[in-house]
Amino acid sequence: MVERLTLNDGGVIPQLGLGVWQVPAADVSAVVGHALAAGYRHIDTAAAYGNEEGVGEALRGSALAREDVFLTTKVWNGDHGRDRALAACRKSLQRLDVEWVDLLLIHWPVPSAGKYVDAWEGLIAARDAGLARSIGVSNFNPDHLERIIDSTGVVPAVNQIELHPGFMQPSLRAFHAQHGIVTEAWSPLGQGQVLRDPAVLETAGAVGRTPAQVVIRWHLQLGNIVIPKSVTPSRIEENFDVDGFSLSHEQMEALASLTGSRIGPDPATFSFGA
Ligand code: NDP
Repeated sequence: MVERLTLNDGGVIPQLGLGVWQVPAADVSAVVGHALAAGYRHIDTAAAYGNEEGVGEALRGSALAREDVFLTTKVWNGDHGRDRALAACRKSLQRLDVEWVDLLLIHWPVPSAGKYVDAWEGLIAARDAGLARSIGVSNFNPDHLERIIDSTGVVPAVNQIELHPGFMQPSLRAFHAQHGIVTEAWSPLGQGQVLRDPAVLETAGAVGRTPAQVVIRWHLQLGNIVIPKSVTPSRIEENFDVDGFSLSHEQMEALASLTGSRIGPDPATFSFGA
């Protein structure tokens, strides 16, 4: 049973979902369809992933009501600015063929463009218009978070950040805890690299589960939202089958002690597409 976390605006989000970055547009409907059949009720996409249409197709093809699936999308770097962000949200809704998303995020802060506060105002407008039930950000550092909060008084519900054993972002997570922002982990499996780590393999052996199940359980016990991606049906099922065991304090610490580094871009400088 997937836990549901309550957000600072009263919304509830299933703690485990499926991420679809790099899932080809031609395949995404089948991949998401398989995940929904396996029990997933939370899908994470983005305008920049180029696969929103297929995500919508899978939702329509399932027997599930729109209310039963938590859907996240993101506003891309070229759409900062209040009106552009609002228009980008409307275009995402059209591609997804839905009336609202459950969570709308600013994908990256793009500090060099200097428009993320305006983009945040666009997301507030989207929420006020009923186009997004909750709003948040992705890849925001504490200084970016402070700026949007100070400028608008609206605290993001979520910050979706790179987070996996070996790259735990402790100071950013502490900032989230202080401000009631839920931490959502992207590349939670370290894009697969973490699954080969000896400490992960040893823990998996000790609890009789797979390395991916152990890493997902680690995120859940930390309180993170976790959105592992897979196009492989058996892995989609495996990643959802994380009940019935828990990690001890020592096992949690063993994974937290991995050495590693950031895999993705640095949010302070990333400006692709702006
Ligand atoms: P993940 O950490 O989820 O790793 C995905 C990789 O792990 C794929 O190669 C997948 O292979 C493999 N994998 C998945 N499950 C297993 C398993 N059980 N055993 C072995 N290998 C496995 O990386 P992502 O970078 O995709 O991150 C997840 C999601 O986070 C994205 O899809 C996206 O939604 C979000 N994200 C957000 C970003 C942002 O800027 N906001 C940036 C990056 C990601 P295969 O698919 O071949 O099965």
